[in-house]
Amino acid sequence: LLSFRDVWVEYGEKVVLERVSLDIEEGSFVSVVGPSGAGKSTFLRLILGQEGPTRGKVLLDDVALKPECNPDRGVVFQRYSVFPHLTVFKNVLFGLECGAAPFTARLFGARRKAAVEQAMEMLDAVGLAHSRDAYPAQLSGGMQQRLAIAQALIKHPRILLLDEPFGALDPGIRLDMHALVTGLWQERGLTIVMVTHDIHEAFKLSTRVLAFDKRRHDPHAPHRFGATATYDIPLERRSGASR
Ligand code: ATP
Ligand code: MG
Repeated sequence: LLSFRDVWVEYGEKVVLERVSLDIEEGSFVSVVGPSGAGKSTFLRLILGQEGPTRGKVLLDDVALKPECNPDRGVVFQRYSVFPHLTVFKNVLFGLECGAAPFTARLFGARRKAAVEQAMEMLDAVGLAHSRDAYPAQLSGGMQQRLAIAQALIKHPRILLLDEPFGALDPGIRLDMHALVTGLWQERGLTIVMVTHDIHEAFKLSTRVLAFDKRRHDPHAPHRFGATATYDIPLERRSGASR
């Protein structure tokens, strides 16, 4: 599904990702772990197409990713994924928007009806149908993340990107979120790439763990200071078995 071919990301002298080559299979659940600054969010931005590699290629179905609004990918961050001034319902609808164009506001008739049905279906799927008229500030942290997931999935993307999605949540709520995400992954045949600081979460949920590690300073290649090494840990045990 996704293919990284000798990918480098450099900011001036700083090498963040170096020679990353890997494939992400359709239907897999990949966790990305590693210390702060290792390039985990950068890796997700590459998949989102928000950023291009300085060298190498990132391919989706063998085609280079472009920085466009793409229905193939939905994304959820640790916080601030939803809009405080919009109701739950409008937040989910907003997931259909492309860039800044307020296109759902311009939908009428059958297309508007379809969009509304899609939004209600998503709210049901994440257990928020009863809160459709609430504002995010009235929701708990876990419910806000449920809303963010609904917003990310309303376009029926094939790939769901999660950047520390449960990092701000209490342990009990995290367990509920694990069940929700596992269910959505299985039912919808999603491919998930999740960044997490929680190694237990990574091994519990995923079919594969990518560990990003900042390299030690190499006196023979000083420009590579800080570049990331990736360790690929396939979890055969879960791959396929849970699907
Ligand atoms: P965290 O766990 O803190 O979220 P991360 O693994 O997600 O860290 P990234 O956000 O991918 O790390 O950043 C990797 C490195 O790239 C960091 O050192 C960061 O300062 C640097 N970086 C990211 N974006 C830019 C940019 N636009 N310009 C310069 N440096 C950048
Ligand atoms: Mg990050």
